[in-house]
Amino acid sequence: MADRYNYRQANDVAAAAAHRMEEDTQIIWFENEDIQAADGPYLLPLLQDSFTSWRKDTEEQVMFEDGQFALFDWEMNLISSTVKLDSQADVISTARQAASIITSGTTEEEHTLGAVAVPVFTRSDHRPFCVLVYVTETKHSSDKHVAQLSAMHFRTCFYRRFEQLYIKDLIMHQQRTDKEASRRDALFLAAKRLYDQFDVTSVLSEMLSSLEQLYPSSAAHLFLSQDHVNGDPRVRPLVFKNAAHDLVAKSFLEGKLVTEQDRDGTKRLAVPMTGKQAAYGVLCLTVNAEGWDDADLPAFLLLADTAGSAFENAKLYEQSNLLINELRLINELTKRLNQSLKLKEIFKFATTELLGVFDADYCCILQLNKEKNQFVVVSSNIPAMSSEHFSPDYGFSGIVHRTREPLIISDYWHTRVVNSKLMDNTGARSLIATPILVESEVEGVIMVAHKSANFFSYDNYKLLQVMSTHISLAITNASLHAEVRRMVITDNLTGLHARHYLNEQIQSRQRKDPLGALILVDIDHFKQINDTFGHQVGDQILVQVSNIIRGSIRQGDIAARWGGEELAVYLPGIRSDQAYRIAERIRTHVEAETKPVVTVSCGVSEWTFENEKISVESLFYRADMALYEAKNNGRNRIYVGQAN
Ligand code: GH3
Ligand code: MG
Ligand code: MG
Repeated sequence: MADRYNYRQANDVAAAAAHRMEEDTQIIWFENEDIQAADGPYLLPLLQDSFTSWRKDTEEQVMFEDGQFALFDWEMNLISSTVKLDSQADVISTARQAASIITSGTTEEEHTLGAVAVPVFTRSDHRPFCVLVYVTETKHSSDKHVAQLSAMHFRTCFYRRFEQLYIKDLIMHQQRTDKEASRRDALFLAAKRLYDQFDVTSVLSEMLSSLEQLYPSSAAHLFLSQDHVNGDPRVRPLVFKNAAHDLVAKSFLEGKLVTEQDRDGTKRLAVPMTGKQAAYGVLCLTVNAEGWDDADLPAFLLLADTAGSAFENAKLYEQSNLLINELRLINELTKRLNQSLKLKEIFKFATTELLGVFDADYCCILQLNKEKNQFVVVSSNIPAMSSEHFSPDYGFSGIVHRTREPLIISDYWHTRVVNSKLMDNTGARSLIATPILVESEVEGVIMVAHKSANFFSYDNYKLLQVMSTHISLAITNASLHAEVRRMVITDNLTGLHARHYLNEQIQSRQRKDPLGALILVDIDHFKQINDTFGHQVGDQILVQVSNIIRGSIRQGDIAARWGGEELAVYLPGIRSDQAYRIAERIRTHVEAETKPVVTVSCGVSEWTFENEKISVESLFYRADMALYEAKNNGRNRIYVGQAN
């Protein structure tokens, strides 16, 4: 009977009934409702119940005291009787005979067998649908009357039951419709709230809370297939241990709803949470089977679907935000990195920047010194690490150096693949490291660490990689710039400084220092050397003399090629008497060590801050004058110019 009405009809009917009752009309709408083919399954229990209840109503009436009743359906099946079957089988058989006369179509009720059979008719179209038989031991003229009255009374009892059942059914429909409507409302609200959230964490919490609201006394869990840090204990990572048996993993792999029920009646439902692009996890609801109605299922599936889309939206939004931030950051970093062409500054800036970007505790930048074949800490916020140096295969920098790949360590305390000074010194547990690659050669390593385990995400790791390429570029730029500058200030043949560099340096020293001295060195009869041995040998001599000069002076002194075969040395903080001794050292070495042997003549001059006319020109002029004198006085000697 339940299937005969769809909800809308049931609603309409109920509303119409209420309306009619309001008008106080006596028409009872369901009186037109009668037995139909669809009622078949419900009919037998209904007839049995009706018979029992009718008997209860009439038991006490004296009128029926000496008779028995039996009820048959139209197929002659016994439905119920007042007869104790085992003792009075003959009564039933008598009743059956009487009933068969009726069902076979004889209209005259027989009264010959001590039994009167009366058909019971439906109330709307007067179809007979069962037979009531009254069996008496002694015939009475009133038996037929009793039987007919009984049949009518039974019919009333039957229809009362029928209507009760009908109304119960309607009320059930009504309740289900109400429940459905309130669930739709709740779902609508849940979906709206879900779509109002822009961040992934809120979407997930909102969804789980909505589920628990929709299905009170249930527990909702979400198993995520992706990395996601969420404070909510209901959100867990999806682990594939035994996919065949694990409900959650099975649902994820098969992409559909999977359910299971424990012996104690606990039911678990797992449904994948999917968006348009991918499956993100599995939504799992644990309910008590008694409190669960399969009509609850569509709402659960719908919510999982909505949550999947909302999660995807939030995720995409979050990702695009991250991407924008990343681009902004890289743009800023590149801009600032390019503001400096000094390597030291770049390293220092990168360290500060990396600490800020990753919210890290420690940062260390190592540079590979190829001559010494070791990594040197060029910048770090850990004092104990500054200027440390390591073998190129030591520690994590060693791994990065060997693999040329970045690495991520979630917990150094648990996965101690190598020993690390950085991690041991600081007690850090998380690490991301990346090579600084210049023309695919490892030039250095960037290491960023944090005290907590599992601190860095995969996104951090990727970002560090991107940032390192920009840092590499800045380093390459700075190195190239330094190289160009070196080339510009260096003389090609001798490797000494160029003349303009010497000029600049003397000028700047004269602004800072109290005094200084200059030696001009000129090879004697160099023209002859060229003429005798050729220009190439002449060049070699120039190189030999330059090397002798370089070997005769201290760091901080500046040797330069002044012109053709004239060389010059500026000695900061030195007076001419000391400069003379240095010139003398050069002169003797040249005479002793050059091949073919040449000699040099030197002119020395000095300046002090007391001198009013300090200038590079006058310093050179006086040294040149002294040199001229040395030449004139026989060469291979040193003259000191007088202060003017
Ligand atoms: P003095 O003792 O008076 O200095 O005689 P000198 O021959 O050294 O002086 P002079 O100024 O007459 O000649 C300088 C010569 O140095 C002329 C030039 O050929 C030679 N010279 C200048 N620069 C170079 C160079 O780069 N390589 C070579 N091989 N010779 C050079
Ligand atoms: Mg000369
Ligand atoms: Mg000369």
